[in-house]
Amino acid sequence: MRELNKEEFKKEVIDYLKVLNFRTVEEATQQQLFQAVAYALKDYVVDQWMATHKASKANKSKIVYYLSMEFLTGRALGNMIINLKGNQEIKEALEELNINLENLEEEEPDAALGNGGLGRLAACFLDSLATLGYPAYGCGIRYKYGMFKQEIENGYQKEVPDDWLKNGNPFEIKRAEYAQEVKFGGYITIRKDENGRDKFIQENYQSVRAVPYDLPIVGYNNNMVNTLRIWDAEAMDDFNLNSFDKGDYHKAVEQQNLARTICEVLYPNDNHYAGKELRLKQQYFFVSASVQRAVKSYMHRYGDIHKLYEKVCFQLNDTHPTVAVAELMRILMDDYNLEWDEAWSITNKTCAYTNHTIMAEALEKWPLELFSRLLPRIYQIVEEINRRFINEIQSRYPGNYQKIEKMAILYDGQVRMANLAIVSGFSVNGVAQLHTEILKHQQLKDFYEMMPEKFNNKTNGITQRRFLLHGNPLLADWVTSKIGDEWISDLPHLNELAIYADDLRCQKEFMNIKYQNKVRLAKYIKEHNGIEVDPRSIFDVQVKRLHEYKRQLLNILHVMHLYNQLKQNPEMDFYPRTFIFGAKASAGYERAKAIIKLINSVADVVNNDASIHGKIKVVFIENYRVSNAELIFAASDVSEQISTASKEASGTGNMKFMLNGAVTLGTLDGANIEIVEEVGEENAVMFGLTSDEVIAYEQNGGYNPKEIYNIDQDIRVVLTQLINGTYSPENPNLFRNLYDSLLETKGGEKADQYFILKDFRAYEEAQKKIEALYRDEARWAKMAMLNVAKSGKFSSDRTIEEYVRDIWHLEKIEVKL
Ligand SMILES: *Cc1c(COP(=O)(O)O)cnc(C)c1O
Repeated sequence: MRELNKEEFKKEVIDYLKVLNFRTVEEATQQQLFQAVAYALKDYVVDQWMATHKASKANKSKIVYYLSMEFLTGRALGNMIINLKGNQEIKEALEELNINLENLEEEEPDAALGNGGLGRLAACFLDSLATLGYPAYGCGIRYKYGMFKQEIENGYQKEVPDDWLKNGNPFEIKRAEYAQEVKFGGYITIRKDENGRDKFIQENYQSVRAVPYDLPIVGYNNNMVNTLRIWDAEAMDDFNLNSFDKGDYHKAVEQQNLARTICEVLYPNDNHYAGKELRLKQQYFFVSASVQRAVKSYMHRYGDIHKLYEKVCFQLNDTHPTVAVAELMRILMDDYNLEWDEAWSITNKTCAYTNHTIMAEALEKWPLELFSRLLPRIYQIVEEINRRFINEIQSRYPGNYQKIEKMAILYDGQVRMANLAIVSGFSVNGVAQLHTEILKHQQLKDFYEMMPEKFNNKTNGITQRRFLLHGNPLLADWVTSKIGDEWISDLPHLNELAIYADDLRCQKEFMNIKYQNKVRLAKYIKEHNGIEVDPRSIFDVQVKRLHEYKRQLLNILHVMHLYNQLKQNPEMDFYPRTFIFGAKASAGYERAKAIIKLINSVADVVNNDASIHGKIKVVFIENYRVSNAELIFAASDVSEQISTASKEASGTGNMKFMLNGAVTLGTLDGANIEIVEEVGEENAVMFGLTSDEVIAYEQNGGYNPKEIYNIDQDIRVVLTQLINGTYSPENPNLFRNLYDSLLETKGGEKADQYFILKDFRAYEEAQKKIEALYRDEARWAKMAMLNVAKSGKFSSDRTIEEYVRDIWHLEKIEVKL
């Protein structure tokens, strides 16, 4: 089999340009060059991909199917070259062709098939699974439009469709031979089969053809290539199905429309349930196709349906794919004629659920009417699961109706997906220690009491291949020069850097790399925002989805406060700061959009006030996504992780910052707690209410922010500036809604429900600490370096090994070429 070879690679690029575009290298556009290089690379990858498939078959490997509505993979080209260890060979080949690799990388659209953390986690997991040698499929949806592109117009967010497939995707392979039929609607009739057994038959349904597109997930330097399988919907080619009268034109057109709409667009909600019919269709569509195909593939290899769980595991990334449990029951009973008890036992041993949030507004609860109308057979099965589970509750807690009220799957006219996932699988995991403890003792207390053996924690992680090796090549090379390159596939090796943390020369080298990365980001900001920022200032960064619980509002209110102080006292000792934000708001989330506008309005005023001599700059980076995230993490000094304690289940942005040598300024929430555990309290700055305190306030009906408003003059001034036109002279009421949210209880929503004013002074103190630490250059360099050195735990390689050990029980394979 072929090695990556420079001369051969050059020839392939030239050939592809010819075949695809009728062009030579000199004539080709950058996009055409990108396509040709991508195809040439795919040629190498496909050999390894096929070899992986063969090895997994020969080894009779158990396979995990990671079912997820989202995979936020970003760009593939650069990462793929790195993982193939083709960097040197390919760079040289391209140089000799006069092609610049970095420019080519810019030609690739981000695959933005996800919102934020949950989707990026799925992408990191796939990278780690392939790198560690575990056979796995990611299963999702091939959205025609991924996460919208964000444009900032006059300070406001504007959503622009993300037509990421417009030039085609050179890495994908359509696998039409694995298409599956997915049925919606109609009704169920019961007939007896030849053995007198009830047969459930769906009639008068609409169906779509689910067609898989496979994307290669290349492991690091191990010849392993796993598959991300994303499903597209096509109209059934048999326009007239036997399920409705031939010639029923109306139905036929409806069915075509269903196929057209189902994969059209990713819902841009992060941590929020919207309850839209099309969303439920998307869920069942990709889950049904994935589970059907997985069972067929298993049967083709092994032939004994009773032992499915020995070779297959479905991991449910949040409740979004939870219909998988009922779909598997349906297949086992209706297609393979198993009795309920056996189907149930197999399903229970095959499905596992990951919980990603405790936020009430994120809980999926489908209206019964919608669920049963769209998925009539699945609904029957869920009803029966519910009936049997309630019997179990009753025999365990006789007469205790509160237990039923809390744990029932069907309740109050709704299908509660989390309850279904917990009851039907063998594992429930949270995504950081604190989060799992809150699940066990608060949110899911009753379930934990009844089935404690299911609960476990898997603290999230990130892949160092993308977020250090690819995103921060200067630091990656420096690290390798100090301790060798084992960290690339074994991150805890970074700990060997700790001995250099006090070494003045190393500190200098390290901070110089940070400086160069800040220059790189400053250039990006100049190009995209037209704002000059000083790379010698502190780069204080908050990038993540815009959400009230993440408290970008606390950050910008503090900036407003600092600005007031500087204005009042221009001679004040103040270390220059650049406050950098990046965040998309869900299109319908008005308050989040108002916060974006506020950040941009503050930026306009502060950045253009000559009297403060550029001591504060505020930058809102447009269209935050994986590709610019890589630049941002590399250039950050301060990592803002300031969610209301208890609300951020884990966070993974925090880990990417740490890996790149930024110091965490954070609350005791999610994985921040474990970050501090690793790096030591002296090397992070933590502040604010604890999760216990927040939960205690919430259980007592909140707190009264007006008390703070009344006694704290500085806070009062800042809040007043929200409504007196300081930042919106053309419309002083622009931020009235934000003001009210902090001070007024309205429509069942508590005043300042995210404890922004309550934590304000503690945050200010923490910010002062940051400044003092930064002024001490040696102290800061040591802290920053120790953050890198102690980030080993937060590799998704570690997370995946824990899933394998406790949940999936996979075995590694070796792929030989
Ligand atoms: C890591 C990442 C996130 C998640 O960030 P959090 O701070 O954990 O919310 C969101 N979006 C992108 C593009 C990311 O890379």
